[in-house]
Amino acid sequence: MKKTLLRLIQISSIAILSLFNIVDIQNLRTLIEPGDNEYEIRMKQHLLCLMLAYPEYIVDLKRSEDDNVYLIMKSGNKILYDDKKNKSLSEKIAEPDLQDMMEQIYPLGPIDRLMDIDFDPGRVRSYPLLKEVYGATRQQVQSNLETVKTDYLNMKFNRNNNAAKALESVMTELIPLAQERPDIKACVIPYCGTFNYRKIAGTNLLSAHAFGIAIDLAMDKRDYWQWASREEGEKRLKSYPMEIVHIFEKNNFIWGGKWGHFDILHFEYRPEIIMMASYFGNRKNTKELWYEGAPMGNELAVKYIKRIDEVIR
Ligand SMILES: [Zn+2]
Repeated sequence: MKKTLLRLIQISSIAILSLFNIVDIQNLRTLIEPGDNEYEIRMKQHLLCLMLAYPEYIVDLKRSEDDNVYLIMKSGNKILYDDKKNKSLSEKIAEPDLQDMMEQIYPLGPIDRLMDIDFDPGRVRSYPLLKEVYGATRQQVQSNLETVKTDYLNMKFNRNNNAAKALESVMTELIPLAQERPDIKACVIPYCGTFNYRKIAGTNLLSAHAFGIAIDLAMDKRDYWQWASREEGEKRLKSYPMEIVHIFEKNNFIWGGKWGHFDILHFEYRPEIIMMASYFGNRKNTKELWYEGAPMGNELAVKYIKRIDEVIR
């Protein structure tokens, strides 16, 4: 009863917010809990985006008798969708499942302020998934690297899952623009690196750079939440050319400037996060089919939707 009342309050406050056209996407997630219909809809959307983002590596889905959902990987390994534990953001980052990774919807397009402190879409990473796709050890990742070459830069990037191709496509558009625009050039060159087999500062977790799927552009001392205050970070963000962000997002990269724990020089290849945002980010009508927004012209999408509906009824 108390829970129902709480939900009613949450729903009506969102309704009031929408009246003023200020729906706060960052708060919508608080409505979603295991066992309810909205949870199941989001789960199906997450699974579809994961399958579309990693089509060579995710071969099927499974729902076990105890109601757990798993991705079945090409290697034969299974990855659990939701451990159903109640976790804080830092616990989600330290012990993530796929649901934690997909939960916060990345805001596509230009922004002019920092995100709320615990809104970090894409900063939660499923290591079992990254290891399956890009390499489970330093040696395996290294053997998957190739060099993306441009006029100014030679960058080592992971060739798996089209990551290096996506970076090449970014650079094909970004470098000519940097040649015309000094403000853009100053943010791109000298760039700070791509592959680096290292842990995230102050943690035991591997950085996205360890998988060869992230790039740090030119550094400013206000770029990172551990180096600068939120005021300084926000000043830097306001001066950051959104054309750079647009080019990366178009090619399935997320930007660390859209994390409350901001990392403004950092871009990371995360097709599942961009797909979730572009297909399902603007979903308002909860009576829609769960896959409303998915690319139905894509044969794979149609096949995966069918499979998801078979496995999760
Ligand atoms: Zn970085």
